[in-house]
Amino acid sequence: MSSTTIAAIRATPVTVPLEAPILHSNGAHWGRFVRTIVEVETADGYLGLGEMGGGGEDATRAFAGLVPYLSGHDVFALEALKLKICNPTASLYNNRTQLHAAIEFACLDIMGQKLGVPVHALLGGKLRDTVEFASYLFFRYADAATGRGEVRTADQLVAHAAALKAAHGFTSHKLKGGVYPPAHELACYRALAASLPGERFRYDPNSALSLADAIEFGRSILDLRNDYYEDPVWGMPQMKRLKDFVPLPTATNSVVVNFEQLAQNVQTGAVDVILLDTTFWGGIRPCLKAAGVCETMGLGVAVHSSGELGVQLATMLHMGAVVPNLGYAADAHYHHLTDDVIAGGLMRYENGAIRVPDAPGLGVTLDRDRLARYHELFRELGGYPYDRDPGRPGWFAHVPNSAWADPAASLRPALR
Ligand SMILES: [Mg+2]
Repeated sequence: MSSTTIAAIRATPVTVPLEAPILHSNGAHWGRFVRTIVEVETADGYLGLGEMGGGGEDATRAFAGLVPYLSGHDVFALEALKLKICNPTASLYNNRTQLHAAIEFACLDIMGQKLGVPVHALLGGKLRDTVEFASYLFFRYADAATGRGEVRTADQLVAHAAALKAAHGFTSHKLKGGVYPPAHELACYRALAASLPGERFRYDPNSALSLADAIEFGRSILDLRNDYYEDPVWGMPQMKRLKDFVPLPTATNSVVVNFEQLAQNVQTGAVDVILLDTTFWGGIRPCLKAAGVCETMGLGVAVHSSGELGVQLATMLHMGAVVPNLGYAADAHYHHLTDDVIAGGLMRYENGAIRVPDAPGLGVTLDRDRLARYHELFRELGGYPYDRDPGRPGWFAHVPNSAWADPAASLRPALR
């Protein structure tokens, strides 16, 4: 077993186009995702895959910085891996949690390949063959080249949701908000719900609302089939206070992203559903530990998406397959992508769900041609500032926000 040690770490930034630029409370994804694909090679010839985001920027150099720490490290020694690069006090100076996640994915991939089993088998075994996903609807600018894809009005949102449902079979629908004035987003959310009777909905303005706006919005959706009210306001104390006024389950992927925060949340009862992100939490295994705490303490869990290509999606599928207390459809940005870097291209949704890979390891491999093509596109276009809106130069988000985008303005901003 000792030869399964890390011999090389290679990171490749790639840019994969989205159907259209997607908006969120802090800015936008400027018509593309920039992701860093990580390859870990072992001394005995295995190749494991990882992936990381980075707010629109390349993370290559950060991974290069890990090589001195991890050369010769046994991929099976995952607890030691964590202590080597992100123990809790060293992390105060050099937070490598997300880097650790990508390396953990690759180590699990290699362990699975070496043992001839899928990653889910290493994690306790799958409880389900598919993971259900929500439609994850965004307000969008039109694609700069085609002029298509704008989602700004209630009618456009309803049409977009119908198209996604027809294509992929979603029965849960998430609206990413925090972009336009709350009254406009409320009208859109209610129109969405009216257009899909009997289905389930969730609204996520990424903590952009004031307490007053969140109370008003929340009270105005109580008659709908809401999964939960996701990060309406910033911080556990405000989330807790909101519950005094709005009887909806709350959810977060923002203010409970580590075990200290999870402990505090258990004590305060601020958030009901913890959205587990395999990157934000530092890997699949920390998410499973957190899911266990949530199960014990009566909290719900679901799978969060911080943007993904197929490698990261595979980690979400393996996690979603083994969590016994998975209570909601997962989130993915995935259906906004036009392609992927994995062999076979984009994974397919069937009836709103994606099949959990059963091949050894993560069960995905790289398509070298696509990797090269999208690396070239990264070199051509460069990064983008995830926390800026190309349609509002000079604007930046306040928390809470009150300077909303104008829903009357149909923009097609430059994206470079
Ligand atoms: Mg969220």
